[in-house]
Amino acid sequence: MKAALIEQLRSIVGAAQVLTDGDLTAWEQDWRKRVRGKALAVVRPGSTAEVAAVVRACAGAGVSIVPQGGNTGLVCGGTPDESGTQVVLSLQRMTAVRSIDRENLTMTVEAGCILQSVQEAAQGAGLLFPLSLAAEGSCTIGGNLATNAGGTQVLRYGNARELCLGLEVVNAQGEIWDGLAGLRKDNTGYDLRQLFIGSEGTLGVITAATLKLYPQPAAALTAWAAVPSMALAVQLLELANERLAAGLTGFEVMGQFALSLVAKHHPQLRVPFVEDSPWGVLLENSDHESEAHARAQFEGLLEAAMEAGVVTDAVVAENLAQAHQLWHVRESIPLAQAEEGLNIKHDISVPISRIPAFCEETDALLTAAIPGVRLVNFGHLGDGNLHYNVQAPEHGDAAAFLRGEEARVNAIVHDQVHKFGGSISAEHGVGSLKADKLPKYKSPVALSMMRAIKQALDPRGTMNPGRVLLG
Ligand SMILES: Cc1cc2nc3c(=O)[nH]c(=O)nc-3n(C[C@H](O)[C@H](O)[C@H](O)COP(=O)(O)OP(=O)(O)OC[C@H]3O[C@@H](n4cnc5c(N)ncnc54)[C@H](O)[C@@H]3O)c2cc1C
Repeated sequence: MKAALIEQLRSIVGAAQVLTDGDLTAWEQDWRKRVRGKALAVVRPGSTAEVAAVVRACAGAGVSIVPQGGNTGLVCGGTPDESGTQVVLSLQRMTAVRSIDRENLTMTVEAGCILQSVQEAAQGAGLLFPLSLAAEGSCTIGGNLATNAGGTQVLRYGNARELCLGLEVVNAQGEIWDGLAGLRKDNTGYDLRQLFIGSEGTLGVITAATLKLYPQPAAALTAWAAVPSMALAVQLLELANERLAAGLTGFEVMGQFALSLVAKHHPQLRVPFVEDSPWGVLLENSDHESEAHARAQFEGLLEAAMEAGVVTDAVVAENLAQAHQLWHVRESIPLAQAEEGLNIKHDISVPISRIPAFCEETDALLTAAIPGVRLVNFGHLGDGNLHYNVQAPEHGDAAAFLRGEEARVNAIVHDQVHKFGGSISAEHGVGSLKADKLPKYKSPVALSMMRAIKQALDPRGTMNPGRVLLG
């Protein structure tokens, strides 16, 4: 049966696009190298019709499918399990920009388009596609929508869900649903698009999307502020919201230890105020009037913040190159952290007003439980979303730390998140990494409705099993 399916898949997509031998690490191992699976085959269709035929062939053989885009996901959702029975359906050949509609302010792209290519195509048309995250050079728009990715511009433009006006999907039966109309208003019943966004490949395969575009701002300025505490970082956010309103397009917070890892592992980067400031905040002000107006607004905000004792020092980037350098420091934190060694990651959200108390309490609980533990705390404070990561004590055995302490550390952090009314997955999704945790932290009513949806759309349970919902 296995040989017959492989033969059928070859006849659909061409023999060269069905990979079964050789080094398949790029598709079988996750970005963080936490899991390594074994695929029955990696199949790379070139069109929606081919995706549909592949799904039908697999459904007919009762074989599970793991959809995959850029394989940059952080919750082990896009790689096969170890059974050697799952087909990885890679969208990486479906990269066409189908159309850009300037009047409708939309573009329609295939799911395998790399996010950066989507941004560049929008820019080429004089428009803005605002979704932006550190993996944008490798992640795909299909993966962004399947995980409802967030990133650095959410506080102004929303996450991937808010940037999507339509989808084309191959469902678990191998039928094609064309929902690409690109309408801003359509109240003709249940919004199927919203079901597939954030479903992490468990309900169907996204093959194309119609995305919202925006006018390019006249200027986008970046500033870096040194801030003495998380509570003051939250006060700075309040001030920035008041003074910049919709112009505030980025507000990232970075703890001193996270920044010291960038300084240590990427010495070519200049990390502002890293020696003297407990927190750094990166702000972006996008302005539709002029650069001079944006700069004056920014300087006014930072002066007021310094007078109020909220900020101790600050710098506004003089030009685009400087702005890129500052963002590069922020975006280098995940890599610097990986270079420092294995660590335990948390992608959490808590109401912004409660973040200072959450950090204070949780830091204390962790340092009491594991003396010497190092906290790499950074993230999208403007959205109440922190990457609250835990690194082994210095000179300790990081692998042993992970094996011995991960469950305890996760329980401390997630219980605290629950207590503070937050979410244990703010933007990365559930994947297989957190699927066992949902029953503890999500309402039984919500879980039972989710199961009903899964059962209705994927009754055979062949779409990315073991992800999001277990059993
Ligand atoms: C350095 C770094 C920084 C990151 N920063 C952020 C960040 O700021 N914000 C954020 O939200 N995420 C971030 N991520 C996580 C990751 O980039 C996002 O989750 C991204 O959206 C995944 O896209 P991908 O194409 O790589 O998807 P993959 O990793 O290939 O897949 C992710 C999930 O989506 C499913 N999937 C993929 N494509 C499809 C499809 N076409 N149809 C149906 N299901 C599909 C997969 O089965 C899997 O469950 C970061 C990752 C890295 C490595």
